[in-house]
Amino acid sequence: MITFGCQMNKSDSERIDGMLNALGGEAVASSEGADIIVFVTCCVREAADERLYGQVASLKNSGALVAVGGCIGQRDAAELAAKMPHVGVVFGTHNIMSLPALIKEARETQAPVVEVISNADAAEAEHPALDPEAPLRREHAWHAWLPIMTGCNNFCSYCVVPYVRGRERSQPFEDVLKETERLIADGVKEITLLGQNVNSYGRDLYGHPRFAELLRAVGNSGIERLRFATSHPKDLLPETIAAFAEVPAIMPALHLPVQSGSDRVLAAMNRRYTAKRYLELIDSVRSAVLAAGKEPVAFSTDIIVGYPGETEEDFEQTLALAKAVGFAQAFTFMYSKREGTPAAAHDDDTPREVIQERFDRLVELVQQSAWDFNQQFLNQGLPVLFEGSSKRDAQMLAGRGPGNQTIHAPLPADKQASDFSGKLFPVHITEAKTWYLRGTLL
Ligand code: SAH
Ligand code: SF4
Repeated sequence: MITFGCQMNKSDSERIDGMLNALGGEAVASSEGADIIVFVTCCVREAADERLYGQVASLKNSGALVAVGGCIGQRDAAELAAKMPHVGVVFGTHNIMSLPALIKEARETQAPVVEVISNADAAEAEHPALDPEAPLRREHAWHAWLPIMTGCNNFCSYCVVPYVRGRERSQPFEDVLKETERLIADGVKEITLLGQNVNSYGRDLYGHPRFAELLRAVGNSGIERLRFATSHPKDLLPETIAAFAEVPAIMPALHLPVQSGSDRVLAAMNRRYTAKRYLELIDSVRSAVLAAGKEPVAFSTDIIVGYPGETEEDFEQTLALAKAVGFAQAFTFMYSKREGTPAAAHDDDTPREVIQERFDRLVELVQQSAWDFNQQFLNQGLPVLFEGSSKRDAQMLAGRGPGNQTIHAPLPADKQASDFSGKLFPVHITEAKTWYLRGTLL
């Protein structure tokens, strides 16, 4: 399994892995010697796109059955089949559940098989997008991605997602709760609810409970920790903020992509909020969570630098907004032109060096705010959900704090890292860096 892109793709891969595993397959660490190579692909930016084509091309003589799915499968099915005859299966974003059957067919017929349901047909489908009963293989036994909806209706001007993931389709409320129960029974301690815009959960199902209600139901189901992504600022409602603050299992970490701090650019991006509105939302979330007595909220965001026509003044407004919020983390991207999106029609003559220079200034500011954010935890105790030992040091435990901070603590001499995996322990923080905290087990 080779996965590119977002958490939705990671979740799709876990489902595919589970289905193939149930049929006797076994995941291997390297494509060398694999019988089947499944790519779950991303085309949100050009770099991911190019990497996929390069990697698939290099497998020409591998002898393996190569299956390409995900967002590029959806977008380029015909091209993939025509240009890359060694690709045995192409499947779209709505066809994950049929992959085992497609692989079987390709092996039996020795001919390429393509199955891509169009976004329009998927929108008409009666059954939910994902089967809540399907087998699943998770990266960590104690963590689960739980998609509550697929697709996106927002059509931000730069973004390809609505074209490759189709319209919003919510998983039925009962299915999400059933899956939550199944995951808890299976030892899961932390669930991350997934959707391109979780705030519009349930809108496509008439008379259906909406996101705030779902948050409360899953948050009060007995799960230890609950997270969710992604929230579109324009749809973040007061009742959702209340649930976020009040339900103890919901962790105080909010990923709220802002994209830009300039109202002019935000309007061009079709984001449908202003910088002022965004800051108001941050304030209300912060004060609601504080009033509920939780840890301070770790705000994270996505920002695009170099949107067509972005001026120095626009960019300075982005810097000012980022400074005002004090993000604990920010994913910063240079604008990447995507064919078929409205923004692709706008040419831009801003030199690449200028965009790079803006990007570097933003990264520097975000590093500073991440460092600042972490300082407040010095000499405090934080509950940590441990993942196991740190990748760099087997004697060091690694886990996550409530704000999703990476936290390290030395492994006690008489213990194994596996004794801690998936378990919560309090840690006294003694060191606060930009991207991690360090402390001692209490
Ligand atoms: N649905 C989520 C995430 C979408 S893709 C959301 O709305 O927040 C993840 C991030 O990729 C986006 O938030 C955006 O910052 C970035 N992105 C999307 N299209 C892009 C493009 N054409 N160029 C650069 N970054 C892009
Ligand atoms: Fe893309 Fe906007 Fe939808 Fe996010 S909300 S997936 S950025 S179109």
